[in-house]
Amino acid sequence: MSGTTEIDPAAAKAEIIAYAKKRGALVVGVADLAAIERIAPPGHRPSDIMPRVKSVIALGVGGQTQGAWSVPAKAMAYFGSTETRAYSCAYGLSFFIENRFQTPSIYCPPDMDNEAGPRVPMQSLKLHAELAGIGARSLAGDILLHPEFGYMYFASVFTELELPADAPLAENPCPAPSCVDMYRKVGQTPCMKFCPVQCLSGRIDDAGRQAEMHYDMAACAEMTQQYEAVPAVIAAALAAEDAAARTDALFDPDNKMLWYKMSVGSGGLLAQCFECMRVCPIATRAPQADPIRRSKLGS
Ligand code: SF4
Ligand code: SF4
Repeated sequence: MSGTTEIDPAAAKAEIIAYAKKRGALVVGVADLAAIERIAPPGHRPSDIMPRVKSVIALGVGGQTQGAWSVPAKAMAYFGSTETRAYSCAYGLSFFIENRFQTPSIYCPPDMDNEAGPRVPMQSLKLHAELAGIGARSLAGDILLHPEFGYMYFASVFTELELPADAPLAENPCPAPSCVDMYRKVGQTPCMKFCPVQCLSGRIDDAGRQAEMHYDMAACAEMTQQYEAVPAVIAAALAAEDAAARTDALFDPDNKMLWYKMSVGSGGLLAQCFECMRVCPIATRAPQADPIRRSKLGS
């Protein structure tokens, strides 16, 4: 292929989807770029990273195996996340697009904005995926859920290649009918009830749809983002009055786990609480939520 003028956008999109699915993506979509540019705050729009961007491709890989949902929280902390698979798929896709279509492309960094602190991402992969129609916001802190594949991990690619956009999902699978029943009886859905720090709340309307969602991000982050604890441990060690107190601060068994996780590069420093998803009927029992279910459906 010699130049962008010869590229058929629909055919290019089909090749991109085929590549990503071969590399492990379960769903792939193209978000409406104008909508992202309108919704994302200044500094966090795709054009802030790639000024000539024409398309935002979002992809999702499957979450846990079926067996993972039944292991103790401390074990799941180490292998519950499959996000790196999504990132490597997107990384490869950016190379594939440049190689196949000779058009500049980038892997969208999923990382935090170093000018805004550790709770502000450079780009919202969630917004990209939502507008690309591969997930809908749930009552569990806006975690995206898919009616067919349940709980997934997302990654994005920006490209100067013009591709036809998809629409957001027409129906939101959250709340599931059983969650609505529980809410009517006890005023909470499973994700709200079993969150260990009670950081989720909300309201379901008479039609059984989301009316309000509240998420205490700070409470969740203290539970899940263990990298935030590292500076506090170091500060306590620096402020210790004597050598014994300093040793206590650094070698407390809980704190030693932080050093262990850092030394092995463990994903257990990031989002290592899965309790809201463990009890979610969409995350755990959607028709193709795990490899066992997917194999039965031949996918
Ligand atoms: S990840 Fe854990 S702390 Fe955060 S909302 Fe889910 S259950 Fe609550
Ligand atoms: S448990 Fe899942 S489906 Fe039910 S309300 Fe929470 S996020 Fe939605």
